[in-house]
Amino acid sequence: MGCLALNASFEPLTLVPARRAVRLVLDRKAEILEVDERKRFRSERDELPCPTVIRLVRYVHVPRRFRRQVTNTFLFARDDYCCQYCGRHRSELKGRQFLTRDHILPVSQGGGNRWANVVTACSPCNNRKGNRTPEEAGMPLRRTPGEPNHVHLVWAVRRVTPIQAKWIAMFYGEDALAVLGARTPAPLQSSSRA
Ligand SMILES: [Zn+2]
Repeated sequence: MGCLALNASFEPLTLVPARRAVRLVLDRKAEILEVDERKRFRSERDELPCPTVIRLVRYVHVPRRFRRQVTNTFLFARDDYCCQYCGRHRSELKGRQFLTRDHILPVSQGGGNRWANVVTACSPCNNRKGNRTPEEAGMPLRRTPGEPNHVHLVWAVRRVTPIQAKWIAMFYGEDALAVLGARTPAPLQSSSRA
């Protein structure tokens, strides 16, 4: 289980390995907001409970382009691992069918790899659509794709604990957790130190 790292602004950034989080804390680059008391880390002079949420002391500017990169891992997560044409979930695909990246406006017509122009499609739907737009193919999209929030993706591909979810919700609102059909966190037993 990783440690959720927040920016100085409390914006959730990413999950980091617990060991890296401890190092940041010992170097006074981050403060601990939540810990898992059941696990402890020892260094020469300190003993620390395992951090599960840390906050960077100084604001780190995260270049937008890193967040916006479209990878299939994140694309499929954004779309809940469902084909955006037929609606089938990855688990419903048969035989040699698989999830693919579909360009709404085909590359051959000038479509690019922007978040708003790519959707998850099963291989049969992608083949059927071919080099056509959804309108041309008569294959309407189930929802309009947009740029996902970085943290939604982290949530989707790397499970976070209810405590970590609480900090994500504090910054983005409860809706952030509902995106991608994520589980609503159970009532919290907070060990907050903030
Ligand atoms: Zn499909």
